[in-house]
Amino acid sequence: MMGKVWLEKVRLKTAGLIFFALLSGGCSSPKEITQETNSPPKKPRLSPIQPKTIEVFNGKLTFIEMKIPLEDGVYDLSCLGVSPDSKENIVKMLVSEQNAQIYYVEDYYSEESQRTCFLTDKRIVLNVEIKQFPYKEERLRVAKSKVVLSLENQKRVEKEWLLTRDLYKTSAKSFLFNEPFRLPLYSKVTSDFGKRRVFNDLKKTSHLGTDFRAAVGVKIPSANSGRVVYTGNLFYTGNVVIIDHGMDIFSLYAHLSKIEVQAGEMVLKGQIIGRAGKTGRVSGPHLHWGVKIAGKAADGKSLVDASKQQFGLPL
Ligand SMILES: [Zn+2]
Repeated sequence: MMGKVWLEKVRLKTAGLIFFALLSGGCSSPKEITQETNSPPKKPRLSPIQPKTIEVFNGKLTFIEMKIPLEDGVYDLSCLGVSPDSKENIVKMLVSEQNAQIYYVEDYYSEESQRTCFLTDKRIVLNVEIKQFPYKEERLRVAKSKVVLSLENQKRVEKEWLLTRDLYKTSAKSFLFNEPFRLPLYSKVTSDFGKRRVFNDLKKTSHLGTDFRAAVGVKIPSANSGRVVYTGNLFYTGNVVIIDHGMDIFSLYAHLSKIEVQAGEMVLKGQIIGRAGKTGRVSGPHLHWGVKIAGKAADGKSLVDASKQQFGLPL
């Protein structure tokens, strides 16, 4: 009798233990068990990084190369400003054989004077000193319907803004080019990047691209190799081609009369992607060339210079 009760108790206890084991230990990994039984887990030892201090202008691209004790791969740097309402700037960094390459762009509209860029483990990689570039102002007259937007056009513009914003999140995680960028055209620049524009004495915007003189039909080459991510007609840009060059670097060719590539297609540097035109919001035929880094506009000429530095060529 006594023996039977004892046996019952043991069985219950065992069942309970098994149940407990299933609840806790059953799901825990060997690593967690070690942490329970041994002294507190040691943090992995991180090699110190010698942060680099750089000077940048808002709206301009800067190429940075530095030694870094990290495994090969693509890292996101989080760059925070010093102002209390500072917007975070996420910058991609490619590491290969302990050599880091970064294309840094400070937003055109940024009013920060300093940023610190660090890894997820909080090690600082860059100290950024920001200076305001003296962009000029110009006054333009265009069709009234292109300045004061109808409700229908407002909705269209919003939709297109979301579409392009999402496109700029789809970049390849490596450079898709192995030589510097070129300017798409070598004709006269009719409007520089960053000019503040006042349309019909009314609406103020900034010109976040470079305008090149180009008659309707002039062949437009790609500024570098990459993958076409968008072709179509947007309200402001008209017929447009957008190319991903990898690592969040995109180039855009606007107001085209004809598009000669398709989305998804790989293109080579200098390959003709379309013909110049006057579609979209324009006062005459020209090529509007835009460069976006992670959705932020940058001066295309600064991309040409920065990429020359990447490949060790004189500016
Ligand atoms: Zn333009």
